[in-house]
Amino acid sequence: MTKKVKDFMNEVIAKNPGEKEFHQAVLEVVESVMPYLEKNPKYLKAKILERIVEPERVIMFRVPWMDDAGEVQVNRGYRIEMNSAIGPYKGGLRLHPTVYLGILKFLAFEQVFKNSLTTLPMGGGKGGSNFDPKGKSDNEVMRFCQSFMTELSRHIGPDTDIPAGDIGVGGREIGYMFGQYKKLRNEFTGVLTGKGLNWGGSLIRSEATGYGCVYFVEEMLKTKGDSLKGKVCTVSGSGNVAQYTVEKVNQLGGKVVTLSDSGGYIYDSHGVDEKKLAFVMDLKNVKRGRIKEYAKKYNCKYFENKKPWEVECDVAFPSATQNEINESDAKKLVKGGCIAVGEGANMPTTPEGIEVFQKAKILYGPGKAANAGGVAVSGLEMSQNSERLSWTSEEVDSKLHNIMIAIHEICVKYGKEGKHVNYVKGANIGGFVKVADAMLDQGLV
Ligand code: NDP
Repeated sequence: MTKKVKDFMNEVIAKNPGEKEFHQAVLEVVESVMPYLEKNPKYLKAKILERIVEPERVIMFRVPWMDDAGEVQVNRGYRIEMNSAIGPYKGGLRLHPTVYLGILKFLAFEQVFKNSLTTLPMGGGKGGSNFDPKGKSDNEVMRFCQSFMTELSRHIGPDTDIPAGDIGVGGREIGYMFGQYKKLRNEFTGVLTGKGLNWGGSLIRSEATGYGCVYFVEEMLKTKGDSLKGKVCTVSGSGNVAQYTVEKVNQLGGKVVTLSDSGGYIYDSHGVDEKKLAFVMDLKNVKRGRIKEYAKKYNCKYFENKKPWEVECDVAFPSATQNEINESDAKKLVKGGCIAVGEGANMPTTPEGIEVFQKAKILYGPGKAANAGGVAVSGLEMSQNSERLSWTSEEVDSKLHNIMIAIHEICVKYGKEGKHVNYVKGANIGGFVKVADAMLDQGLV
């Protein structure tokens, strides 16, 4: 780490104590962009870096609700409005017991660069609550979502801030929140994305993050004259991103041999085919069950409290959560012959893990580029809502595919180091430049 980066980070850490995920996300970007800034001092002079790490606005609020037993429960809600230089704030809502300010600030910060990479006009934001939807009844989830939206509705709007889903927030939660917003504001607008298809949602939005990640990996493999055909893939998680990653890998001729949840992972050497994937979707999206039931149903192995990175593979798709691949996991992957990593999740690899991938010179696609397909189709949902029209699946999927190709090109443009492409550097600088230039244009705001 250079002295300049170290001094900068010391200030960030002093100003944001205890927010280790935020520090980690900032360090990764600052290390990548500092050499670029030194060659382009206009950004240093305007203190773009100091401004970009400071959220434009942080909203924190009480979320009281009543459980089925008639007990009052209190959670904490958040919305981080990080940067609106290139468009209204846009980013998901996470409902998970680990949620606190530091996690949401890291996610909002990443979102700024990711949204910039999509080529669409979207600023960055993120929000959520420490509410745990696991084990709650539908009515409890509804009461929580209504209370959460009662406060959030004052701060968002279709031209201001447009939240979407993330961990713990799928179609059910977006529905309850949208209903409450509509009732409070008496308006039917595209204030949330990931909506149901009958009430303003976009085709392919559910598929977008997983599909997009697989398209991105296919582009990385193409640079080596290779493809996903015949590749053995490991996937972590079994939620939205994981499910559609499996679907697209299968369509492109690869084979997925693992899936996981917070309890452990399953290993299916025959691959998770279309029929088995339908079982997983029903298990996770309808029955809200555990992945170990897959092992029982299809008579394969279940590894409790373990992560799938010990399984040999050609391509890995971390699609569960942050910091799920540490240094030792990364070493296992490289040793097991892994040639590419596509991050469906946000910041799933620790800095030490990233170093292992970089040293091995494998094709490492960081989340802010590889998983940008989700927010890209959210952007397309916003366009359709503004037009009051809806596009066909083929139209949206082809736009998504082209966006992922464009993101890959941006990464190559800014990340080429001789014959090798450093996708971390490419994504960070490529995402940064557009936002930084917009901030320069708009003056000191
Ligand atoms: P879901 O809630 O649909 O699924 C999350 C999956 O990850 C579940 O299988 C869950 O298991 C597992 N998981 C969550 N937290 C942990 C943990 N701490 N340890 C182990 N496993 C865990 O979320 P998504 O699929 O939407 O999101 C997955 C990742 O992708 C997140 O990092 C998210 O930020 C990122 N992402 C999502 C986008 C989207 O469009 N949905 C867009 C871009 C990125 P369990 O059920 O046991 O908790």
